[in-house]
Amino acid sequence: MSENTRQQMIQTIAGMNTVTGTVDYTSRAVKEVYGEHVFSERVQRERLPKTVFKTLQKTVKAGTELDPTIADAVAVAMKDWAIEHGATHFCHWFQPMTGTTAEKHDSFITPTNEGGALAEFSGKELVRGEPDASSFPSGGLRATFEARGYTAWDPSSPAFILDNPNGATLVIPTMFISWTGDALDKKTPLLRSMQALSTQAIRLLRIFGNTTAKRVYTTVGAEQEYFLIDKHFYFARPDLVNTGRTLFGAKPPKGQELEDQYFGAIADRVLAIMAEMEYELLRLGVPIKTRHNEVAPAQYEIAPLFETSNLATDHQMLVMEMLRKVANRYGMTCLLHEKPFAGINGSGKHNNWSMATDEGENLLNPGDTPHANAQFLVFCAAAVRAVHKYGGLLRMSVAGASNDHRLGANEAPPAIISVFLGEQLTDVFSQVEKGAAKSSKKGGDIKVGVNMLPKLPRDAGDRNRTSPFAFTGNKFEFRAVGSSQSVAGPNTVLNTIVAESLDYVCGKLEKALKTTKDLAKAIQQVLPGLVKEFKPVLFEGDNYTPEWHAEAERRGLPNLRNTVDAVALVTGKESVSLFTKYHVYSARELHSRQEILLERYIKDINIEAQTASQMAHTMILPACLKYQAKVAEAIQAASACGIEDATQAALLQEVVEAVSALRTAALALDDVAGKAPHGAMAHAKYQRDAVLPAMADLRKAADELELLVADEYWPLPKYREMLFIR
Ligand code: ADP
Ligand code: MG
Repeated sequence: MSENTRQQMIQTIAGMNTVTGTVDYTSRAVKEVYGEHVFSERVQRERLPKTVFKTLQKTVKAGTELDPTIADAVAVAMKDWAIEHGATHFCHWFQPMTGTTAEKHDSFITPTNEGGALAEFSGKELVRGEPDASSFPSGGLRATFEARGYTAWDPSSPAFILDNPNGATLVIPTMFISWTGDALDKKTPLLRSMQALSTQAIRLLRIFGNTTAKRVYTTVGAEQEYFLIDKHFYFARPDLVNTGRTLFGAKPPKGQELEDQYFGAIADRVLAIMAEMEYELLRLGVPIKTRHNEVAPAQYEIAPLFETSNLATDHQMLVMEMLRKVANRYGMTCLLHEKPFAGINGSGKHNNWSMATDEGENLLNPGDTPHANAQFLVFCAAAVRAVHKYGGLLRMSVAGASNDHRLGANEAPPAIISVFLGEQLTDVFSQVEKGAAKSSKKGGDIKVGVNMLPKLPRDAGDRNRTSPFAFTGNKFEFRAVGSSQSVAGPNTVLNTIVAESLDYVCGKLEKALKTTKDLAKAIQQVLPGLVKEFKPVLFEGDNYTPEWHAEAERRGLPNLRNTVDAVALVTGKESVSLFTKYHVYSARELHSRQEILLERYIKDINIEAQTASQMAHTMILPACLKYQAKVAEAIQAASACGIEDATQAALLQEVVEAVSALRTAALALDDVAGKAPHGAMAHAKYQRDAVLPAMADLRKAADELELLVADEYWPLPKYREMLFIR
């Protein structure tokens, strides 16, 4: 048995028994399990009085204001249903600006005068909560005493039950708002952005003669990448525990170069985690569909079927929570950080996005008729124009210290936002553009691309994995979203910029239709101009190359390399006028978001700097000194026997120098991290320009030592172990 704790861990892991299953679909079929813990439309129909059910569904489907008189009836039905499922408590569940979820539980129990107790839950308690919750970041929105925080029921996301071995809780999705009406969360702006997009999309559909659709929803399917490593290793790495990523670690001999992990057979323990997690999620009505091994060793992916943005966002938060919870049950830890391991692929969250009517028509699905194709082309063009015009804001929506390690590194999409359309669609748009040029010259009735659009295959064969924003047959895939982020923010921005673009296109078409009554002609007048406008954002090549970066600069596309650069845009003129125009964020709310983003960035890097320093001083340095003493001792012993060896003396020299470099770098980091300029923006820049480089220097010194010092002294699990031993 080894004395080294790392060796002990490895032996423990090797000796672990095979996993025992918990999920059994033979006694209960998936279709029984799916949604059993959701107060779904079906349950509502069964349990609510008919009129109440109808009124509630109207609110859910048409987005109309909730009729307060039905709240009591809904609350009673919800409570009875929850208690039958073992619930003792209820909670308002919300998404503060920390990017996580928050919950405060209250019991159903109300004591009676006679010393008994009743289970009660009123409409008032359902509709509104006052958790106050004043410790969440508010970015100055709650500086005044009257700015209490309260939660408001979101009927468009159904309540559900969260199970625990010691009881269940009824969870009610809510918005989190201040008394003054400011959004203190991520859900409220998302709902507002969906409303803004719906209004403009319906306007465009009316132009195309659609008189029946009442609402357009944005849809999202988020593919989540994550790492699983053994819990023993995790707990032995203070950097993983405190910052979510490894701040030290030499490059392992084997990384992902053999490409043997991607879509490989899934290890038993990992598959057991996936299956139990899926089971839990299916019960909550999260439509989990796909699971597989990802590119990096120990990296995996889970993807659901798409849903409306609001529901998909709530469900995505549950996915992240379940990943963590269930992995833990099997002795593993789920890492959601964008870059847990340097030099190994990071994790993203591909955000598949489209728009669909309440009648089920996907507006980004190329149709079979010229009319349907024209409509598709206009919606598609509006989306591409939005990404061109507001690429900076889109980049801003995925900013954060952890995602900075991924965006722009040589794997994930770069920080430059461009659009990949695929060969066919690119060709169609260039026909559209040229067609118009001809028609304006000759003035005749010529057919432009809209009438000739060939049937596009749903799944265009050539997929450009390097593009940050790619059209994939019937949806766009926004790939710059980070694995640890809530998808609420990126989708809020995406919905709003497309709403603006649809508004713009509607304006143009309506104007054209005043002179020509023919829709096809109006489109032919408007579309070519749009294509000309957004053309610079189209890029089909390899997004990683320096040539593209130079080309993008020539085209005037913003390259916001890091969070600090991107965050500056939040309160810029363009952002304020866009978001206030569509009532998605007020100017005050934008200021608060900027402050929170900057504060978070500063704090994240502070925590990393302190963790790195402590690990260097108290773990790595002592281990290195031990080894140094050992080498010195060996040389002395040899010398006592009359043997002098130059190579051993050189080894000692090398170790001493490397240790000295480590200590120097650690002290330098302490010095840099101890100072900070005043003002949030200045401080954030300082973190980026002074603290991060000092951390990188320290890491370099430590990683060199990892390859020099005797393995048995090294205190931290190594990359070759964390990534491959399970
Ligand atoms: P991949 O990109 O890995 O090939 P898929 O094409 O299977 O994966 O789809 C990825 C995700 O896109 C899934 O979550 C799927 O539900 C989602 N998706 C499909 N259609 C739409 C849509 N219209 N709107 C939003 N998401 C969609
Ligand atoms: Mg994908």
